[in-house]
Amino acid sequence: MKSRSSLDGQHFHVVVIGGGINGVALARECARAGKRTLLVEQNDFASGTTSRSTRVIHGGLRYLEHGEIDLVRDSVRERERLLRERPHLVQPLHFLFLLNEESQRSALKVRAGLWLYQRIAGRKSGDLSEMESKRVERALDRGHRWTIFNFEDAQCEFPERLVAEWLTEAIQAGAVVRNHCEVLAVDVAHGRARGVLLRDRTTGKDQRVDAGWILNCTGPWADRVCQRSAIRTTKPMLGGVRGSHIVLSRFAGAPGTALYSEAADGRPVFVLPWNEQVLVGTTEISDTGDPAKTAPSQEEIEYLLRTVTHLFPKAKLGTHDIKYAFAGIRPLPYSTGNKLSAVTRRHFLHDHADDGAARMISVIGGKLTTAASLARECARKIGIAVPEPKSIAVGPAAALDPLLNDEVLEIARAGAVSEETARGLMEWHGHRAIEIARMALVSADLRAPICPHTSHIVAEVVEAYGRECAVTLGDVLLRRVPVALGACWSEQCSREAALRIRGVMGWDEQAIGSNLESLEVERTAFLRRPARQSSALEAAAD
Ligand SMILES: Cc1cc2nc3c(=O)[nH]c(=O)nc-3n(C[C@H](O)[C@H](O)[C@H](O)COP(=O)(O)OP(=O)(O)OC[C@H]3O[C@@H](n4cnc5c(N)ncnc54)[C@H](O)[C@@H]3O)c2cc1C
Repeated sequence: MKSRSSLDGQHFHVVVIGGGINGVALARECARAGKRTLLVEQNDFASGTTSRSTRVIHGGLRYLEHGEIDLVRDSVRERERLLRERPHLVQPLHFLFLLNEESQRSALKVRAGLWLYQRIAGRKSGDLSEMESKRVERALDRGHRWTIFNFEDAQCEFPERLVAEWLTEAIQAGAVVRNHCEVLAVDVAHGRARGVLLRDRTTGKDQRVDAGWILNCTGPWADRVCQRSAIRTTKPMLGGVRGSHIVLSRFAGAPGTALYSEAADGRPVFVLPWNEQVLVGTTEISDTGDPAKTAPSQEEIEYLLRTVTHLFPKAKLGTHDIKYAFAGIRPLPYSTGNKLSAVTRRHFLHDHADDGAARMISVIGGKLTTAASLARECARKIGIAVPEPKSIAVGPAAALDPLLNDEVLEIARAGAVSEETARGLMEWHGHRAIEIARMALVSADLRAPICPHTSHIVAEVVEAYGRECAVTLGDVLLRRVPVALGACWSEQCSREAALRIRGVMGWDEQAIGSNLESLEVERTAFLRRPARQSSALEAAAD
């Protein structure tokens, strides 16, 4: 752990609590406006809901069912912006919407919804190639009559990387950032939030900082921050809804495109190509437990496996195909009586002035897709003049392919690394890739792959510790260079990686041991392995 200077007694114009995508976007916005900004995260940046999502950057086709057209408009605009501004991280994704005779949604309703969606997006979806369509149709259950529609959305395979980029931009703009640093309480006096009490988990030291504004961006933890600070809201701000996913190895007939279909209960389910695996989600279960301990239940895993098995019976999927399962809590606004799927996905900014804590705002809800626009809105609410970004023309995006061969070749030459490694650097680090490659040129240790199964290299680890505020090995391998989410990763890979990193980081045996232990504790708590011998699970797959 690096030693960090104490913040005790310092004054910040804005303190942002919570380093998920929303908190990081907001800290970046405030720092860019020249405000002295502190961002505090109890674990690691993007380790909460942000890394537990389905990772789709979407206009929100589903919101149309609930008549939230302005939300779709905002989401589409933000999706287009991300596609253009971060083409290495956010890429177009073609979806097939699958219906059969048992589906609850009618073909007419879906056709009308997609027509409206495309009108709002300002572009018509291209059809999938005949060959790919046929391939998907062949793999689907032949016992059903399928109706298939096409539409376009986008995917950010690694929102962890998007957060890392925004974080470094926040730092460049002057923000002070601290991960592994918990806000114990917001200090409220005379009806006003005045500062926060922090515990830096890297040093164990408590510190108090003063703040002009406190922005509670703790996602599903938002009510807890208020409770521990004795800030009483008239009702809970959140109604946490757990969503789980399973990650499968790629199976015979696995689609190379995204599928949107219905589970047996009519809920929408995604089957997505992701990280050379197949991501299936999600569920919706009311959950008011500790978000840090959330995990998929056996029933949710069975439900998801059953759903994908019904789509692809020929693949004969079983528990052994599940690499891992993970869950997150959607920080949805509190609501009573609504079906969970009908709770609005709109975000709210809760001003705590009426709760006796003026100059504190809690951010409730929000999507990966709209984090940047939420940040602009929240910054404006506290009086920061944020210019509207240049308008984005909707329509086919130009030059979306970040894997331009010339650039890949230049990176490969600069670092004396393979084209595969250069491409990987480009995909995860965008414009920084060339700098990382130059760093790698210095030694063979830096050019070495992090483990034998990946083309990502040790130089990326050095970048993560040196420039992207990684503190633990988990921060590095689960988020900054997220190779540990890959299809091959195992405890053996963690050990191999630690040994390869030790030289460049100067770790002794004790440091290797403690880094490895904390990585494995975090990895196994996050990425759950379903019980192998579950008869219910095997039945789900039958
Ligand atoms: C199952 C699921 C699927 C989803 N799919 C999508 C999708 O496909 N597309 C999309 O756009 N959105 C999706 N979302 C929504 C999206 O992921 C979230 O809305 C978004 O990540 C919320 O970000 P956040 O920054 O508000 O919260 P978080 O990412 O949870 O960040 C909050 C942070 O606050 C920290 N914190 C808490 N308490 C304290 C404290 N006392 N001191 C310091 N730090 C603290 C936490 O550690 C955490 O890192 C999905 C969500 C879920 C759960």
